[in-house]
Amino acid sequence: MTVTEYAKPLPAPLHRELTKPFWEAAQRHELIIPRCKRCGEFFWYPRELCPHCLSFDWEWQRVQGKGRVYTFTIVRQPQYPAFNADVPYVFAIIQLNEGIRMVSNVVGCPVEEVKVDMPVEVTFDDVTPECTLFKFKPAS
Ligand SMILES: [Zn+2]
Repeated sequence: MTVTEYAKPLPAPLHRELTKPFWEAAQRHELIIPRCKRCGEFFWYPRELCPHCLSFDWEWQRVQGKGRVYTFTIVRQPQYPAFNADVPYVFAIIQLNEGIRMVSNVVGCPVEEVKVDMPVEVTFDDVTPECTLFKFKPAS
């Protein structure tokens, strides 16, 4: 992937210390997800304690990043002008094989080809040298 000058304002993580490992992994093109060491459940979004058993004892675990499109919409008229050049694009909720759901985009195919339950896999977009975003593409 090529890093081009990124003109949009970038979203900033709210809990920088909590999510720092996630963003560092993304820069390595690895997807890591919080997994509880007590009950074994994955959870998303990252937070201080497991939402399943309320344990504070969890760790980041690397996952393959494979899943399916849970639901999606094709954005043709973005609410925010910074995204005008990207339309049409797919805003989607992806259900990973680990059971969690992540908000992302589906890229790498025409928007009309995206379907509910379509197999997808993670891909990474190096938007700046400091920031890599995770997105999903049709599974190979
Ligand atoms: Zn737990």
